[in-house]
Amino acid sequence: FQVPFPQNEPVKEYRPGSDERTKLKAALAEASSNTIDIPMYIGADEVRTDVQKALVAPHNRHQILGYYHEGDESHVEQAITAALNAKEDWANLTWEHRASIFLKAAELLAGPYRYKINAATMLGQSKSAFQAEIDSACELIDFLRFNVHYMTEIYSQQPRSSAGVWNRQEYRPLEGFVFALTPFNFTAIAGNLPTAPAMMGNTVVWKPAIQQIYSARVIMEVLKEAGLPDGVINLIYVDGPVAGEVIFNHPDFAGIHFTGSTGVFQQIWKTIGENIHLYKSYPRIVGETGGKDFVLVHESADPKAVATALVRGAFEYQGQKCSAASRAYIPVSRWDQIREYVLADLQAIKMGTVENFQNFVNAVIDERAFDKITRYITDAKNDPTIEVVAGGGFDKKDGFFVEPTVLLASDPLYVTMCEEIFGPVLTVYLYHPDNIEQTIELVDQTSPYALTGAIFAQDRYIIERVAKKLSNAAGNFYINDKPTGAVVGQQPFGGARASGTNDKAGSSLNLLRWVSARAIKETL
Ligand code: GLU
Repeated sequence: FQVPFPQNEPVKEYRPGSDERTKLKAALAEASSNTIDIPMYIGADEVRTDVQKALVAPHNRHQILGYYHEGDESHVEQAITAALNAKEDWANLTWEHRASIFLKAAELLAGPYRYKINAATMLGQSKSAFQAEIDSACELIDFLRFNVHYMTEIYSQQPRSSAGVWNRQEYRPLEGFVFALTPFNFTAIAGNLPTAPAMMGNTVVWKPAIQQIYSARVIMEVLKEAGLPDGVINLIYVDGPVAGEVIFNHPDFAGIHFTGSTGVFQQIWKTIGENIHLYKSYPRIVGETGGKDFVLVHESADPKAVATALVRGAFEYQGQKCSAASRAYIPVSRWDQIREYVLADLQAIKMGTVENFQNFVNAVIDERAFDKITRYITDAKNDPTIEVVAGGGFDKKDGFFVEPTVLLASDPLYVTMCEEIFGPVLTVYLYHPDNIEQTIELVDQTSPYALTGAIFAQDRYIIERVAKKLSNAAGNFYINDKPTGAVVGQQPFGGARASGTNDKAGSSLNLLRWVSARAIKETL
């Protein structure tokens, strides 16, 4: 099979005075001066309802970006019907024609839509220009191009035949419709979850997190312009439990592609289990959920590299990545030096709105997130066993701003060492270098999650021992690098334990979940 071999989309830097910076600024200005109308997309229709709700910028809560039209259960039903109606034609379309739609979408994102989708992600989800670029431009483009490539790898795998027998394998889409339930924190993930099953011939009902619908709308525009037929992906904004009630009680429910919280995923899994007798087939359940991602530092590590990894890993996008570094284990003998570098880096960091490209830190996503994160910080400030090494401040008057906060805990099981906070809070625990073995054990046992983690060391025996002993503690394991920023085609992303089904987004492992193969034997 011949498709263009994918290359990772180069990251634009938006340097002062560059053409790309001027274009992104213009897209931001345009988006800020227009209050947009955000309809649902069901079948061929843009659906508007009487329930219009405001979408505000997290870094400027007085700025209304647009109004979205909220649906109810009738819209969920319409979306399912549209998906089922579109199914036969879409599933019968040859893979080359499906592929070219997604490749064209990637071209549109790389070209004319790049600034528009980045501006939408920056304003709607409070991302800096760089964080938006690596997400809504590069990673989303990569997902589309690499998945097309992996799709062709899957389709070309055929069983052996023997004399007088011809064996074939058909990679058919699932019977029914797929539900994509997507998070606020990555536009790329929001785009990947509906498109990956669609690529394999499925039709999809897509319910994004409300905080992401500004950029979700741009994704739909791009897909439509690329030629995606009506009804293949249907985008609805409906309250979670209302949508769930209709979706998980439907006999044609064939699978869910999910990224979000562990609690919601487990509840969905239970509901699917309780309703299992309703469905035609066992639904595919694919999910990426929480993380409590570690950085384990050995005495042999380079302290400057550790500090950079901690600051970037913990505070880029305000710590709102499932992969964010949130607990660090540092030898007491190395702490002074690492602390100095961390404080120097933090001193240089600016926090504020996304329009000012100097700001490394922007706002957390909404008031609920702000209240949750700042509760942990306030409790830590009031706890005599905790030292606030850096940050600790917050303010929600104009936007939901939380300072990058570093806590030092004397108890390795202190609450912020164990629970997912999903905000800019890093907790450090100091261990005695003689206790490295117990510390490795601690890293493994402290949290139920297993998404990402990093070891910093120059000692190769230690690196190998940690990699082996923590083999179940992280689906994405980093050696001398921060635990965030997995690149499609290079580090397929996902974790096990309470972090998900580890079906590796942007890989053939993931795409295989969206096919139901038929093996055919013909006697010649
Ligand atoms: N893939 C992202 C990374 O490697 C994290 C995805 C997430 O937050 O769900 O940083």
